[in-house]
Amino acid sequence: MSEDPSFETRAIREGIHRTGEKEHSEALFPTSSFVFDTAEEAAARFAGESPGNIYSRFTNPTVRAFEERLASLEGGERGVAFASGMGAITATLLGLLNAGEHVVASNSLFGSTTGLLNNIFSRFGVATTFVDPADGQAWSDAATDATKLFFLETPSNPGMAVANIADLAERAHRAGAWLVVDNCFCTPALQRPLELGADLVVHSATKYLDGQGRCVGGAVVGPEALAGEKIFPILRSAGITMSPFNAWVFLKGLETLSLRMERHCDNAEEVAAYLAERLGAERVRYPGLSNHPGHALAKRQQSRFGGLLAFELPAGREDAFRFVNALKIPSITANLGDTKTTVTHPASTTHSRVSEAERQAGGVTEGLVRISVGLESAEDLKADLEQALVTAGLV
Ligand SMILES: *Cc1c(COP(=O)(O)O)cnc(C)c1O
Repeated sequence: MSEDPSFETRAIREGIHRTGEKEHSEALFPTSSFVFDTAEEAAARFAGESPGNIYSRFTNPTVRAFEERLASLEGGERGVAFASGMGAITATLLGLLNAGEHVVASNSLFGSTTGLLNNIFSRFGVATTFVDPADGQAWSDAATDATKLFFLETPSNPGMAVANIADLAERAHRAGAWLVVDNCFCTPALQRPLELGADLVVHSATKYLDGQGRCVGGAVVGPEALAGEKIFPILRSAGITMSPFNAWVFLKGLETLSLRMERHCDNAEEVAAYLAERLGAERVRYPGLSNHPGHALAKRQQSRFGGLLAFELPAGREDAFRFVNALKIPSITANLGDTKTTVTHPASTTHSRVSEAERQAGGVTEGLVRISVGLESAEDLKADLEQALVTAGLV
């Protein structure tokens, strides 16, 4: 490779360690353990004195290849893969926090992340204050002496609020806290939080990194001092392990990431423009629309606006259900970041287990519909949305 290979080249070439068989595609190692030539070698390996594989709960070559490739794309020293995005987030909280410490988090997060902080970490003495991700001062005001972590997604799910990563990194550091960014929506193809000052990036690989809706997985990327020293020990002890097969699928997914993200963005821009024209721009939440409150910031912070959008139907849940049921192309599913366009009613699905007050704060209204715009023809998608709006009596 050249001295300084570009993102597209690293997405395809990074993390390859060819075996003696000279395979071209990355090797898959479905083995639970590894053998040592001698008892002395085994002892040295377990003592951490000699590098190499031990046991696939925490060392597997296929998983490592995925970790290396993703770390390179995010611009981080070290990647640690997990069984799921929630596994990666759980390990991050376990690795960074002690009982009695405090988290400031965005009030517009993936529902399970809010639930994890509210219902589980609260039982172990970690309290969380939720704030508007776009209101920097609110983050500083919520920080206390016990605050160790700022946690956010940008753009947020499903509110599509844009948070200023560089500003919040500064505010976190001033408060003596780390900033962790869930980069699931943008992927490193569109946004690299570590370059903007974030301390760690977490991922649900289940979404765009796979990109074809096949496997569940997650990852954390950051400097060795955090990802290696604080997060990896949680993987080793708690065993929230990514399977080698899933890692192999994610490696293949990363190869086409930038190509796919370009088309997801093209299609989402077209669908957003169509919905804005049909329903009024004020009803559509997409950072690519000039009326979006985070438009200018997203333009600076991201290379493009992403494949997700949400919009509000006037009369709430009944309208939303009628519309969703009338769609012919999009799949009704909670997944996102798939080649297939997916449609979700967040209030009754992904965000049904967070409280009404939290839903309101995060902008998850009863009439809100989220679309993850896939790679089908934009013309076909717009035609399908049009017939569904008409069938549901909404235009
Ligand atoms: C899906 C998702 C997660 C959780 O990931 P899983 O792989 O489903 O555990 C976390 N954050 C965001 C933004 C997500 O969309």
